[in-house]
Amino acid sequence: MVRKKIYDFHTHISSLEVLEAYYDHDIVPVINCQSSNEYLRLMADRDVFLKARPYFDGRIYYSLGIHPFDADIVDQQFGSSYEDLIGGADLIGEIGMDACWCDTPFDDQERAFVMSLDLAKKYNKSVILHTKMMEARIYNILKDYNLDMVIHWYSCDKYVREFIDLGCYFTVGPAIFLDENVRNMVKLLPMDRILLETDGVDALEWLFKKEFDINNLRNILEAVIGELADIKQVSFDIMSDSLTANSERLLGKDFYE
Ligand SMILES: [Zn+2]
Repeated sequence: MVRKKIYDFHTHISSLEVLEAYYDHDIVPVINCQSSNEYLRLMADRDVFLKARPYFDGRIYYSLGIHPFDADIVDQQFGSSYEDLIGGADLIGEIGMDACWCDTPFDDQERAFVMSLDLAKKYNKSVILHTKMMEARIYNILKDYNLDMVIHWYSCDKYVREFIDLGCYFTVGPAIFLDENVRNMVKLLPMDRILLETDGVDALEWLFKKEFDINNLRNILEAVIGELADIKQVSFDIMSDSLTANSERLLGKDFYE
């Protein structure tokens, strides 16, 4: 039986082995790069990967952007090549602001965020957003942009309806098993705005407080699909097909393939 593809719409991949594991398990990652070094390493891994699999019939998707943690060191992360690299990326992200996990000055965060949004507009790219405890300020900034937006790991109990009204998509991951805010948010989300994410192996290890075996990646994503299906009261297959359709719509596959 052919396994259906699953899209992990926001992840971080730090080695060729993990990249291979994704495709071995029929999981299509959208790989985040938050520096030119991460981008160059991904391109090198991609070359090796494609050379070893001449019959590979997919594309390797990536997002690229200045993370709010690094908003005061844009030059260090991207040198002068930020705009060039953004032009070639599938999506811009993760970009945004954070008042919880970093102490980067808010002025720097907002400047880098707005610069990235302006570039997304200029190059007609969708964005992946990091909004941790800056939801209201981010909402106020986004109101002026007409972009396709994906909010990653949203865990705030407020503004969900406001972001839905802006047209945002939401990536949901295994936090759905542990965080009541995520479950409540999913109840409010229309089916055509939900995407899947892991946020990468490090995030999974942080979340579950134990080592994560990459061979369990498909199991964990299928468990999230099952949980989403239960909350939305649809079958696993309907949920899974909807997640795939949403992912492919945002990746523009209806247009390119
Ligand atoms: Zn991330």
